[in-house]
Amino acid sequence: MITATDSWNALEASMRELADLAGMAALLGWDRETYMAPAGAEARARQQATLRVIRHQRLTDERLGERLAEMADSQLEPPQAAMVRNLARDRDRAVRLPSEFVRRLALAEGRGVDAWRAAREASDFSIFQPHLEELVAVKREEADLVGHEGERYDALLDRYEPGMRMARLEPLFTALRVDLQALLNRILGADEPSPPPFSGRLFPRQAQWDFTMRLLGDIGFDMRAGRQDISAHPFTTSIALGDVRLTTRIHEDAPFDAVFSTIHEGGHGLYEQGFDPAHDGTPVAEAASLGIHESQSRLWENVIGRSRQFWEHYTPVMHEFFPEPMSDASPEDVFREVNRVRPSLIRVEADEVTYNLHILIRLELELALMRDQLEPAELPAAWNEAYRSALGISPGNDAEGVLQDIHWSVGSFGYFPTYTLGNLYAALLWDQFRTEHSDADALIGSGSFGMLLEWLRVHVHRRGHLYDAEDLIRLTTGRSLSHEPFMRYLVDKFETVYGLAA
Ligand code: ZN
Repeated sequence: MITATDSWNALEASMRELADLAGMAALLGWDRETYMAPAGAEARARQQATLRVIRHQRLTDERLGERLAEMADSQLEPPQAAMVRNLARDRDRAVRLPSEFVRRLALAEGRGVDAWRAAREASDFSIFQPHLEELVAVKREEADLVGHEGERYDALLDRYEPGMRMARLEPLFTALRVDLQALLNRILGADEPSPPPFSGRLFPRQAQWDFTMRLLGDIGFDMRAGRQDISAHPFTTSIALGDVRLTTRIHEDAPFDAVFSTIHEGGHGLYEQGFDPAHDGTPVAEAASLGIHESQSRLWENVIGRSRQFWEHYTPVMHEFFPEPMSDASPEDVFREVNRVRPSLIRVEADEVTYNLHILIRLELELALMRDQLEPAELPAAWNEAYRSALGISPGNDAEGVLQDIHWSVGSFGYFPTYTLGNLYAALLWDQFRTEHSDADALIGSGSFGMLLEWLRVHVHRRGHLYDAEDLIRLTTGRSLSHEPFMRYLVDKFETVYGLAA
């Protein structure tokens, strides 16, 4: 006789197998970006595609569908119900995509990224254009295959931010844009802060590396369950709960690049290390959404790492690591330098005020592509016009314009909004932490982050994907998602930095 327990055990075995396959894929990807020999690239692409096909086969297996259906009808404890819900959602999406289409999509994405690299190198959009046309076509097809209620973009967004819809995002982001633009105008009317004493000085590589390792230890990243390496573009990947890998990058003339890359990725890493071990290998020991993931990196990088209190503590520490380049530098010098606002062309170098305008431009364009209101050939001109209108500047070439981000070349349409959602979620979480801990600022100023980490562990990390993002935020903060806490945080901070009259 097959009992309910037998069925559950079989389902759990499938979950673990899927988690193992995801971990192996992550390890192959991490290695490709860090230590792989360049001549191994082609074989690696094949290995990754093979794993992807195997995962799709496992996910679409009919027995898995039967077990999920059976469990959906039975009485389950909340964590088990969430596991079934998350896995069923993944499976529903997978079964709507024929394997012929999955292969076509994987090929388009593989070719797209190579063409994108070549086009960016040559700063020539025409090299990428035919691939982008193919990618836009397959993503439109994917969205239609997955299904939606008239807004194709929703089917793509849902993969990164489960449950989120454009009908919810559009009014939220429109209001955000108006407020950001108003704050930016006030800042642009103020005097530029003078360059800090360390401007133009070189910060030795080894000391930078040592300082980033010190920071990771201080915020609570567990080195027995993770590591840091160097890569061209910093990222975080999780092989397993006990093996979370970060990368950073070091430029001798720009020490804060490494500092903030490490704190940002460290925030992602703390989340990955913090899932409930009791749920390891199941679809609740993972992020609620990419927006929540990004809220963790941005909370540590911006709210904590670019605060005055943080630099009151760490400027003396930097004097120890970098005695010569840091000579004569005060906490105030660092605080102002790391919060300098200026409209720029490159998203990843943008300050906290303009950053979301970069995102809103990309969202507007990919939304128009998915609504058939824009075609890839028109993208460079539309991009440049959007920058002129939002930031008053325009790229001099495609490399610093439409070709700067990798996302579209790997088919990641619907991903960009999660960055801005991360900022909004982070502000809500920080507000709540400060409400519960009146000494929050003093803790940061003394370099004590344990209280904040424990709070995040309890309210966000251990909850993993028991709830979708908006429910998690409501449960933790008692409030609904809105742009107001984030704007209040920005206005308070930048009125101080730029001496703006309130
Ligand atoms: Zn991030």
